[in-house]
Amino acid sequence: MPTISTALVLEALPVDSLRKRLDGKLVEPGGAAYAEARQSYNAMIEKWPALIVYCTSANDVAEAVNFAREHDLEVAIRSGGHSGSGLCLVHEGLVIDLSPMNSIHVDPERKRARVQGGCTWAEVDEATYPFGLAAVNGVVSSTGVGGLTLGGGHGYLTRKYGLTIDNLVAADVVLANGNHVHANAEQHSDLFWALRGGGGNFGVVTAFEFQLQPIDTVVGGPFFWPIDLLEETLRWYRDWLPAMPDDVYASYLTAEVPSSNLFPEEIHGEKVCGLYWCYVGEPDAFDKYIQQARNVAPPIYESVGPMPYLKLQRMLDWLYPPGDQWYWKGSFVKTLSDEAIRKHRRFGHVPTPQSAMHLYPIDGAAHRVQSDETAWYHRDATWSMAIMGVDPDPTNRARITRWARNYWHALAPHSAEGAYINFMMEEGQERIRATYGDNYERLQQVKATYDPDNFFHVNQNIEPAG
Ligand code: FAD
Repeated sequence: MPTISTALVLEALPVDSLRKRLDGKLVEPGGAAYAEARQSYNAMIEKWPALIVYCTSANDVAEAVNFAREHDLEVAIRSGGHSGSGLCLVHEGLVIDLSPMNSIHVDPERKRARVQGGCTWAEVDEATYPFGLAAVNGVVSSTGVGGLTLGGGHGYLTRKYGLTIDNLVAADVVLANGNHVHANAEQHSDLFWALRGGGGNFGVVTAFEFQLQPIDTVVGGPFFWPIDLLEETLRWYRDWLPAMPDDVYASYLTAEVPSSNLFPEEIHGEKVCGLYWCYVGEPDAFDKYIQQARNVAPPIYESVGPMPYLKLQRMLDWLYPPGDQWYWKGSFVKTLSDEAIRKHRRFGHVPTPQSAMHLYPIDGAAHRVQSDETAWYHRDATWSMAIMGVDPDPTNRARITRWARNYWHALAPHSAEGAYINFMMEEGQERIRATYGDNYERLQQVKATYDPDNFFHVNQNIEPAG
């Protein structure tokens, strides 16, 4: 049942007039459709929107924006819905859901893809891979294009080809005043700069255009050591990864081996540290790199081999279905001191099977873009760290939250300021400012130009200048 206050908000709204102007579906409180539409990927977060608009076109988006503005409703934007902080939903406000806008056009000649704002990366991968092409995206393909791209985006191809935003060439945006604009390096270039890392602050992106990269078979998969080897393996990894060519991608992780038939039974439930590989060079040249890892210490499990890139992209999807409890914290990490590594050893034992710590590489090609070229400021960070407490059982909520917070606090003195906004809960202005560093004021100026009233504020918010 909706809360009484949600019902009161709704009563005062001319909902039918909006419904008539939309091609897409409008969902109001009550009934199964609403119960489903207000579900949060992160089950720790529960919100009761007044209206959820399933937009089928940029015109629907503009109608929803205008209606919300005219009736003083707060607005949340939802693409793939994977926001850990639940910022794709809003209590008593209007949710602009873009999921029906999921068409993709690939131009293999120009190696470009035009992708509507509600697509998931699984849909993009499927459209581009038959042409031997891929967009730079994340490591779980059920994630949405919208949130991941606007936050910056990193994944298996980042060392080779940069962040997702480094491969964004244009965006169509519905602004707070309901107008449509096309932003690229020449048109609305200030907006285009801000969209590349500034999140959902500037408008609703109804379509993205990406530069695609050539891809075929990659060599990838998991490689685990027992957690007792964390200190020596992480010390090695700290020095090894940055010295590797861009073709070598390996994130470092602490985790628990899932009790799944994908893994041998004798290691189910083992706490591990290890690497997740994606090598994009000549497959025959890969052996020497993995041998270097084996030489540090023999793994208790490895399943690393050549496979279609598409397969690697989907490999982790099953582990993170919607509806689990999530509490995550992120940091940017330049290097790892011995003391930081000792702290990883102390806190790295995950509390539940899906919980994990990942150090995602963001060096290589991502370092060859200057910190003022896009809104993403921390171009000198080597890793984007995520500490993720995850579990289906709500009674474990406090446990996973405490673990993630304690782990993060222990590492905070060793991390750079700020964090990837897509790995943040709602953590306040100070963290957001630190994330954007010297770019923050410029972002405030762009915000003042395109959204002076801070209409789009249900996000990791950049306050307008002035
Ligand atoms: P949503 O919840 O739909 O959107 C999040 C926010 O983005 C919205 O609240 C809104 O402010 C904004 N937004 C979304 N779409 C639009 C739009 N079209 N126009 C304007 N604003 C918009 N990130 C990585 O970079 N790499 C990874 O490998 C990675 N792995 C992940 C794995 C899992 C299992 C999860 C849950 C997340 C992962 N992330 C990763 C983080 C991911 O980038 C964020 O969760 C991101 O918000 C997901 O985008 P979404 O569209 O699904 O989210």
